[in-house]
Amino acid sequence: MFERLGKRSGGRDRGDVHMGEPGFLRKLVRPRKLESVFLFVTSKCNSNCRTCFYASEHQEGRDMTFDEIRRISDTAPDFDKLWIAGGEPFLRKDLAEIIEMFHRHNGVKAINLPTNGLLPDPVEKIVGRLLDSCPGMTIHLNFSLDGLGETHDQVRRVPGNFDKTVATMERIESAFGSHPHLHRNVATVVTPIAYEGLFDLGAYLFQKFNLATQYFESVRGEPRDPELEPIDRARLEALHESLMPLYEGMADRLFGEMRPGVRDFARLYFIGTIRLLYRLQEQNLEGPCDWGMRCTAGQTTFVIDHDGGFRACELRPRIGRMQDFDFDLGAALRSTGLRDEIAAIGGGARANCWCTHTCWMLASLKFSPGTLLYRIPRAYFDYRRNGSRAFDPAEHRLRDIEERIEQARS
Ligand code: SF4
Ligand code: SF4
Repeated sequence: MFERLGKRSGGRDRGDVHMGEPGFLRKLVRPRKLESVFLFVTSKCNSNCRTCFYASEHQEGRDMTFDEIRRISDTAPDFDKLWIAGGEPFLRKDLAEIIEMFHRHNGVKAINLPTNGLLPDPVEKIVGRLLDSCPGMTIHLNFSLDGLGETHDQVRRVPGNFDKTVATMERIESAFGSHPHLHRNVATVVTPIAYEGLFDLGAYLFQKFNLATQYFESVRGEPRDPELEPIDRARLEALHESLMPLYEGMADRLFGEMRPGVRDFARLYFIGTIRLLYRLQEQNLEGPCDWGMRCTAGQTTFVIDHDGGFRACELRPRIGRMQDFDFDLGAALRSTGLRDEIAAIGGGARANCWCTHTCWMLASLKFSPGTLLYRIPRAYFDYRRNGSRAFDPAEHRLRDIEERIEQARS
């Protein structure tokens, strides 16, 4: 969700708070143009998650071929960020070639790479290759962990999943841990069955790994297990509140080596953005509530499904198929279907569609000067006024959490 602040004394990243792209705050007023492409590279998956909102797609249609994706890249304008999605992306054999192609042809500067962590060899091989072949590109490697120990395995319905993912994370940390362009994050889906252990999960990961951040998303879309309802608002608020000491600790790690003034500024935006996003999640959990900024889905974001279908965001219906545009992304972006969809969304409010999806909130807030200049700092100062707490490792000892993981298994 967040990129580290540039630590180099020279170079273009100096002094910027990165949140998804270089130069985040330098570009306060930016035209709404394509900024992020969400590309589902495969529908195949080696997991069976109860939370999966893409499950109905797993058996349907074929994945786009490399040549079809190459045509998309050839016809796309330059854009900053490529969000890889699936399925399990690392099941795709030509994943590295696809990413390299978008980096070279389309100037992609940052890539979001999610994984369930069950394929350690491809993860290490592909990440290593990309760090060498795309030296200026930032890789956000996002591991999925939805619960502590066995609870994660129950959510994902894969025996031993938690241990395997943690082992993959250890392997990546030891291979590339200090690489400045690799940011390791954890994505956690909040469900009622894992709720009680989620703070422990955060405290465990924070102490065991040098993560850039961990973000928590309420279960969304139509999950494979319809009984997995989102938790209620009061419990979500309590969870977010309990996590703040961990985010304070992450800010210390991310910005600790910076000059004092710059460090304070970076902390303000890091914590303020988290507070704002979590507040929006809470407010939209049970019904539509104005984001206070326009949702830019379809204008700055474009989603391409594994079989060529496309949409404005992950939660909206399909608008068309890339096949009908001969995989010409420029033509799809100019299509009447997309124009009508953007008008129907109306910045979120007109379609009365709402969501708790922080990826789209983040993608949208970059285009809202009022949010950048006022609402994020205000969220930070409101939080500070109500008191804040640092993470205390003595209160949440790693060894105690590991013992709780083992006890739950026996
Ligand atoms: S949530 Fe992701 S890892 Fe789980 S089944 Fe769906 S695509 Fe696979
Ligand atoms: S508000 Fe949410 S569901 Fe509606 S268009 Fe924006 S991202 Fe999609």
